[in-house]
Amino acid sequence: ASGYSLLRDPHYNKGLAFTEQERDAHYLRGLLPPACLSQELQEKKLMHNLRQYQVPLQRYMAMMDLQEANEKLFYRVLIDNVEELLPVVYTPTVGEACQKYGSIFRRPQGLYISLKEKGKIREVLKNWPEKAIQVIVVTDGERILGLGDLGCQGMGIPVGKLSLYTALGGIRPSACLPITIDVGTNNQKLLKDEFYIGLRRRRATGQEYAELLEEFMSAVKQNYGEKVLIQFEDFANHNAFGLLEKYSKTHLVFNDDIQGTASVVLAGVVAALNVVGGKLRDHTFLFLGAGEAGTGIAELIGLEMSKQTNTPIEECRKRIWLVDSKGLIVKSRIGTLQYFKKPWAHEHDFVKNLSEAVKVIKPTVLVGSSGVGRTFTKEVVEAMASFNERPIILSLSNPTSQSECTAEEAYTWSKGRAIFASGSPFNPVEYEGKTFVPGQANNAYIFPGFGLGLVMSGAIRVHEDMLIAASEALASQVTQEDFEKGSIYPSFKNIRKISAQIAAKVAAKVYELGLASRLPRPENLVKYAESCMYSPLYRQYR
Ligand code: NAP
Ligand code: MN
Repeated sequence: ASGYSLLRDPHYNKGLAFTEQERDAHYLRGLLPPACLSQELQEKKLMHNLRQYQVPLQRYMAMMDLQEANEKLFYRVLIDNVEELLPVVYTPTVGEACQKYGSIFRRPQGLYISLKEKGKIREVLKNWPEKAIQVIVVTDGERILGLGDLGCQGMGIPVGKLSLYTALGGIRPSACLPITIDVGTNNQKLLKDEFYIGLRRRRATGQEYAELLEEFMSAVKQNYGEKVLIQFEDFANHNAFGLLEKYSKTHLVFNDDIQGTASVVLAGVVAALNVVGGKLRDHTFLFLGAGEAGTGIAELIGLEMSKQTNTPIEECRKRIWLVDSKGLIVKSRIGTLQYFKKPWAHEHDFVKNLSEAVKVIKPTVLVGSSGVGRTFTKEVVEAMASFNERPIILSLSNPTSQSECTAEEAYTWSKGRAIFASGSPFNPVEYEGKTFVPGQANNAYIFPGFGLGLVMSGAIRVHEDMLIAASEALASQVTQEDFEKGSIYPSFKNIRKISAQIAAKVAAKVYELGLASRLPRPENLVKYAESCMYSPLYRQYR
């Protein structure tokens, strides 16, 4: 290849880091200014430039440009500065990017499969330049974070998630494939927007939707085989549960909103028990939001309780209560409940709102999974603090604008007693001379390591015990130092080490369940996980 095209290929480009010898050998003379910079220096310059931008979206765009220009440097920068850059390439900024995708759109990323491609999905997959795909993240854009239907502009999510698969979990970038399935949008604003990049029609439903998804799922398996991991992301719950149930029998699939979130929240709760004491079974859980995240978490907590105590899961579920947009989920509502809510309809008087529900249920753990911001009011938090010495309060909804309460509110209203974590990051809070560092209860802790564990063992199916294994691995990484700062999650700084631990535990479970196709089982799974991880360091070109 010519030097000119080498500079334009993000997989191989090193910019000013090409050495004198490489410049001679690869026809680069004259195409670069004379200076040779090390990757360290390039990184320093980039971070310096990035910090000049005050507007988060500008940082996001600068990172996307970097990813398109020099992939190794992009990952080097992201890995070395993960705490600073996670909020840029992921929640909350990725949410804003999706909302404005039409106008910030420069170059297409990922693969778009719309109703126009019906009947031709295999050909579309063949247009993607990489053939050896290990992980696909796919969305249909109907429930992007807590922002609702963003149609085709949801592409920011699979792109962002997969960059974390690489940066946090070490999956090779070339093995990652972001996909957006465009079946239309019901977002009126987008339908009227002349710059909208997606199909200008209302969402397909029913058979038309199911057929496109079916063609997609079988094309993926035909093209990439049985071991490709398909992560469903940000589908609306009226499709998400059904797709997961249907395809978990035939494909290696995983829904991050239902299962990844469940695993990360279980880990946080288990870690929090070190502070508040008691076993899972001794606690009472109340959720605001009974959708994918809410019921997914509730089910995994119930399952773990049941395993720990050898009690039927139906019994354990009784410790767990959910509130949806209509009020507390109780027996008398059973006739009109969506099926995924029915297991949670316990015998109790109906109460209409959260603050009443908190007062009658008296939960020890309150989880926000509603997608609606500011719903953990002063009254709610004060009630939690009135009957709990250390109330556990998790505001999972993303982005920051949708968080059920802020870190500051949780600490202030509970007079510094809440154990708080949130889906999107909050800065440390000072309250009466003490600094609290809230943890980030975000599935980004789980899915990269979880995916690595599946890929490295050649798993062919996902099993819920693997989610529990991931959860235990994460909880075990929380240190005394984290607890002292008030956090029930470890810092993201060490996330690659944490991911290797998670991957090892997940892979061990895959082998144990006989679902591994990579045989024989490596002796030391942590070492093996680390050895599989992608390195962002430049290679020498001869
Ligand atoms: P979902 O399936 O649409 O569920 C939303 C639930 O919230 C539904 O049960 C809905 O009630 C309920 N709800 C909506 N408005 C409400 C209100 N005003 N009061 C009480 N309940 C209300 O969405 P999801 O997938 O669970 O996601 C929900 C949120 O969790 C999103 O903001 C998402 O970003 C966040 N999330 C965070 C993480 C993380 O890692 N931190 C992971 C996944 C999701 P009805 O059923 O009555 O409509
Ligand atoms: Mn999601």
